[in-house]
Amino acid sequence: MLSAAGGTHTVRRGDTLGAIAKKYGTSISALKSANGLNSDTIIVGQKLTLTGSAAAAIHVVAKGESLSTIARKYGTSVRSIKSENDLKSDLIKVGQRLKIPGKSKVSDPGIHIVRKGETLSLIAQTYGTRVNTIKEANNLRSDRINVGQKLNIPSGGSSSIIADGSSLLAPVIAATNRLRVDSSRWRYIVCHHSAIEAGNAEAYGRAHKRRGMENGLAYHFVIGNGRDSGDGEIEIGPRWKKQLQGGHVRSDKVNESGIGICIVGNLQDHRPSTKQRQAINELIGFLKDGYSRSNAEVTVHKLVDKNHTVCPGKYFPYDDLKHFA
Ligand SMILES: [Zn+2]
Repeated sequence: MLSAAGGTHTVRRGDTLGAIAKKYGTSISALKSANGLNSDTIIVGQKLTLTGSAAAAIHVVAKGESLSTIARKYGTSVRSIKSENDLKSDLIKVGQRLKIPGKSKVSDPGIHIVRKGETLSLIAQTYGTRVNTIKEANNLRSDRINVGQKLNIPSGGSSSIIADGSSLLAPVIAATNRLRVDSSRWRYIVCHHSAIEAGNAEAYGRAHKRRGMENGLAYHFVIGNGRDSGDGEIEIGPRWKKQLQGGHVRSDKVNESGIGICIVGNLQDHRPSTKQRQAINELIGFLKDGYSRSNAEVTVHKLVDKNHTVCPGKYFPYDDLKHFA
């Protein structure tokens, strides 16, 4: 879906440069030159800058608006909006989506009008931003929104994390965008270590299957150490993709409502790598921000299953979790 926040497009599975160019009313060559691409190859999660004519926006018509008030708002003309949208007359309807020609780059934040059935988390996913970012931009104290309510959609949001040089979260955002996550279901985020240096999501998944877990990998996410997966790479397990409960602790209650994250390595012997630490912080921030209960408890295995395990080890960065308290 087009983002009124404008400026960037995050590549999703199945996107091609041609399709993206068409969507934003620009050309493949303009996209390539704006992003310094030498070939037509793009990868899921990649952020593409939409400059000039590529930076089109969508405006959803609100009650009382006319083409001329909309044109004024975006610093463009009635005529260019009409031609951009193939409108034969000046008649527009409330709720109608209008493409705003790109040469008038939108300096206002985008506006989204809440429709029936929409939640903040769904809207955040649509615009590639976060629930908290939208709440801050609109001074919302709770997650409650009403049909017809206008929300400012700030540009930036979670995309700034990626633009700042880290793409650790990109696969998680891309995969999660395709899911329907019932955030009210997840009450806990539980951190683990694997206690061995070898392995990755697939290897642990096979081991968990052998132990009789029919859904395989007991964790939802595995953060690599550079040996059998990338350093700081966040692998997304089948239980997250299918939104199944975890199998990572003894307590049924916490398994049912807890998201499990495993850092590869024995953190009883050594600290996690800088990238692993960055990855788990970004991942928890992302999950806390619209994909779990707003008061979800971020905890570690040994606090859930007391006197049973040292997991996630004495070198786990426990202080980092205070940010999420
Ligand atoms: Zn554990």
